[in-house]
Amino acid sequence: MTNSELQPNTTLLDSIRNKLTNCSMNNIIFYCSSCGEAYSIPLRCDLILCEKCGKRRFMKLKEKYLPIIKVQKNIKLLTLTWVKGVEHKDEIPLRHRQVRRLIKTFFKGGLYTFEGLAQHVHALVIGNYVPTKIISEKWLSITKESYIVDIRKANSSGLNYVLKYICKPPTYFENEFVKYYEFWFHNRRVSTVGLFYNYHQVKIKIELLCPKCNDYLIFWCVGETVYDYPLCKPLF
Ligand SMILES: [Zn+2]
Ligand SMILES: [Zn+2]
Repeated sequence: MTNSELQPNTTLLDSIRNKLTNCSMNNIIFYCSSCGEAYSIPLRCDLILCEKCGKRRFMKLKEKYLPIIKVQKNIKLLTLTWVKGVEHKDEIPLRHRQVRRLIKTFFKGGLYTFEGLAQHVHALVIGNYVPTKIISEKWLSITKESYIVDIRKANSSGLNYVLKYICKPPTYFENEFVKYYEFWFHNRRVSTVGLFYNYHQVKIKIELLCPKCNDYLIFWCVGETVYDYPLCKPLF
């Protein structure tokens, strides 16, 4: 979603509220070009603040990363903490660089997610045991402010723990909603380092096939508007 798609004369908060309320209430109707069958799929808001959409994101990421994590040994859960969350979205790229630097120093790779306004990062990392004290000293030298780290042994189910932070929207007051939305609209909340990296580059190809004749579904309708697939432009 872009800001230009927001309704004119409504505030961003109104628009967010609207989209959250209407998530999955309407359907997109796909038609099969060969046999003419119609299929309907719920129209989702895909907002970062939506719990329903968060669960879908969680399942997609789990499906993508579980196969590589399952074959790994030496899985650990690492939590890194800063003194406070960020005040401005432009500060997030620096936090990404700090996390990547720390993970690269000690481990073969990792997958991490930010919690809330980026005060904490939860990472699943692969590598040998490193004493907490050593990681803590390195974290302080990178951040210049915080030495708070936690590392513990895990297995592949640690992936659930790390991904749950992108599934659950924060329980902020509504005025914090906009801040949270704007921060993460421009920045990644989930990222990978090292041996996970290439997996992040693989785009999952989405193909919609007709369950009846197995041909591609080529256009869809939302209400009165008919869209061309896959160009996503209204046809008429
Ligand atoms: Zn068909
Ligand atoms: Zn939603």
